Amino acid sequence: MKRLLFFFAKRYIAGSERQNAIRAALDLNRAGIGAIIDNLGENVKSGQEAEESVEEYLALLDGIKLSGADSTVALKLTHLGLDISEELAFKNAEIIIKKAATNGNFVRLDMEGSAYTQKTIDAFLKLRRKYPNAGIAIQSSLLKSKEDARLIASKGGSVRLVKGAYKEPPSIAFKEKKDVDSNYEAIMKELLLSGTRPAIATHDERLVNEAKRFAAEKGLAKESFDFEMLLGIKRELQKKLASEGYQVRVYIPYGKNWLPYTIRRLRERKENVWFVLKNIFER
Ligand SMILES: Cc1cc2nc3c(=O)[nH]c(=O)nc-3n(C[C@H](O)[C@H](O)[C@H](O)COP(=O)(O)OP(=O)(O)OC[C@H]3O[C@@H](n4cnc5c(N)ncnc54)[C@H](O)[C@@H]3O)c2cc1C
Repeated sequence: MKRLLFFFAKRYIAGSERQNAIRAALDLNRAGIGAIIDNLGENVKSGQEAEESVEEYLALLDGIKLSGADSTVALKLTHLGLDISEELAFKNAEIIIKKAATNGNFVRLDMEGSAYTQKTIDAFLKLRRKYPNAGIAIQSSLLKSKEDARLIASKGGSVRLVKGAYKEPPSIAFKEKKDVDSNYEAIMKELLLSGTRPAIATHDERLVNEAKRFAAEKGLAKESFDFEMLLGIKRELQKKLASEGYQVRVYIPYGKNWLPYTIRRLRERKENVWFVLKNIFER
């Protein structure tokens, strides 16, 4: 089963080493597309693992600089020790963001499951006071996200808007996909008007087209926001948007802890689940 999942994962992950991700970023750059590199890992349970993650991010930031790649980085606070303590995760995130500032780079905090939402927002708002080169992700699947996005934008923070990859209870999240999508559209429009350079992170072509239409109607510059997509999904759309003059970045994960990320990619599309099931039964 793990071998089959690994085969599936290869579509979405650059490889196990940082150099794999940097090479993938340079390839995208040649097509006029920027990158966001993520070192895979989450929910570490020891201070040592969190420290190793920090070391990897520092080396990644230097690797990006040395290669000349146009790539920002993304990280998860539970990869930096949030399950151990908020202080530890904050301290580690600060080390990475400070280094990124020195290198002229940008770091975005990914958003994890709802147990971490408020902690991630609190850490971000504190970091953002000192480091303008930090951003955060917000999920339209959560009922409170419109308020969260408004608060962050009012402080000048850049939001990456996503639908949300985690299964959440109905008490705090929209149950129907259509409601997640319409909340996405509403938050997207507010963010586009906020002047905080949001990232519209979706492969949903209706929403991508609506972002383009809305931005043109409001006279917003193409440089005032980014489109972001994941490695391995909608490659033609990525290239088309870049050729139309939009700012496009592709999220490139790498590393040895590929399983949780792969399962999230599997779950969000029923064709992917069928692909794995079909291969299990054909064996
Ligand atoms: C740059 C980026 C960063 C992200 N960061 C986070 C984060 O920090 N926290 C978080 O919770 N989520 C994050 N996500 C994931 C996000 O929440 C969604 O789970 C994911 O993007 C799928 O939703 P969608 O917006 O593409 O819309 P959907 O309506 O789910 O999909 C639209 C179309 O995209 C294609 N598609 C979608 N998913 C797949 C797939 N796995 N394989 C193949 N095709 C697919 C299909 O054609 C589908 O019809 C991120 C997504 C992106 C693009």
